[in-house]
Amino acid sequence: MALVNENYLKLPGSYLFSEIARRVNQFKTTNPQADIIRLGIGDVTRPLPPAVIEAMQKGVEEMRSPETFRGYGPEQGYQFLIEKIIENDFVPRGVELSVDEVFVSDGAKSDTANFQELFGVNNIMAVTDPVYPVYVDSNVMAGRTGMFNNDKGQYEGIVYLPCTEENGMKPSLPEKRVDMIYLCFPNNPTGMTLSKEELKLWVEYARENRSILLFDAAYEAYIQEEGVPHSIFEIEGAREVAVEFRSFSKTAGFTGTRCAYTIVPKEVMVYDSKGKAHSLNQLWLRRQTTKFNGASYPVQAGAVAVFSQEGKLQIKETINYYMENARIIREGLQGAGYKVFGGVNAPYIWMKTPNNMGSWEFFDQLMEGANVVGTPGAGFGANGEGYFRLTAFGTRENTLRAIERIRTRM
Ligand code: PLP
Repeated sequence: MALVNENYLKLPGSYLFSEIARRVNQFKTTNPQADIIRLGIGDVTRPLPPAVIEAMQKGVEEMRSPETFRGYGPEQGYQFLIEKIIENDFVPRGVELSVDEVFVSDGAKSDTANFQELFGVNNIMAVTDPVYPVYVDSNVMAGRTGMFNNDKGQYEGIVYLPCTEENGMKPSLPEKRVDMIYLCFPNNPTGMTLSKEELKLWVEYARENRSILLFDAAYEAYIQEEGVPHSIFEIEGAREVAVEFRSFSKTAGFTGTRCAYTIVPKEVMVYDSKGKAHSLNQLWLRRQTTKFNGASYPVQAGAVAVFSQEGKLQIKETINYYMENARIIREGLQGAGYKVFGGVNAPYIWMKTPNNMGSWEFFDQLMEGANVVGTPGAGFGANGEGYFRLTAFGTRENTLRAIERIRTRM
């Protein structure tokens, strides 16, 4: 008899976006004429930059001839891409990395979910609340948490760091010692960032406690303001305690194409029960070479074009497009009297629901009243209750129409 991994049974039944889809479908059945605008799921709507398409086509073409055909590539990614990543994303920010500290993959979702495998099952993990659900669920599956407490809307055994209106959506350091800390800035879902001084506190905490910071920078390309750190490695000492996840998904429209990378500096150590240090970089290499066979060659060939002159211009244009949407949403909602966070250095706008309304109740009202679909904050954690996320990834036309409807119909 095959037994189940009972940790999976701790996961509540319905995943956030399936519940949203269920409610939207139900509404559409009874209101077939409704013209629904979706500003919910964080997927992009602009196509891949032409420079990337051309480079991918060339990559595919190379697969045609025996002389240029490529089979299995290096599991960690092709050096031609890794060198460009370091040269363009890190060196200009004063961050030196060696090629064997960069691991190319097929997505930051899988990397952030898989990375926890390297840690002992008894480690205590901390997450912000609200949070990108993948960090929590992957640790639940691994058995690093207790049961889900329905009253609290939280798992036993996880240290939650509330991000609320009171603390300006910025997490405080944990009161009890934790071993693994997931941080995501610019944040999904709140759209907020941390300053260098604020990030420095986390690096110091991690160094003092020999904890590891798992820093998700999937939205760094959306930072508009000067002085906001794009990488945890801009903070002195971070090389000893941090891992950073990055993705081409939101930077360059790769959500369906799939390419990302993770930085694991050689200084980062984890300890065995005898206190002996082990290199996290070596462990991740071992994990990836065993369980992953590399991102596809045409995709990596396409990703290189993100760093070409034309590629950079094309990406900037797309990001500006989304950030103009963010401005329209943020200012439109503020003008209509809503309290909003984010949307300045991130493509997410986190709004407070009116009159302390529950976030699923607001979801239904917005869908029924304005035919606009967003994401209820409660789906990101207990402290997301009373908030609602809208994304700037829609088309300009839909963004303008959605805000107009919220202004006039709600
Ligand atoms: N990290 C965060 C914070 C995200 O919001 C997302 C996607 O929405 C991801 C990672 C996943 O990125 P990828 O498409 O590279 O898997």
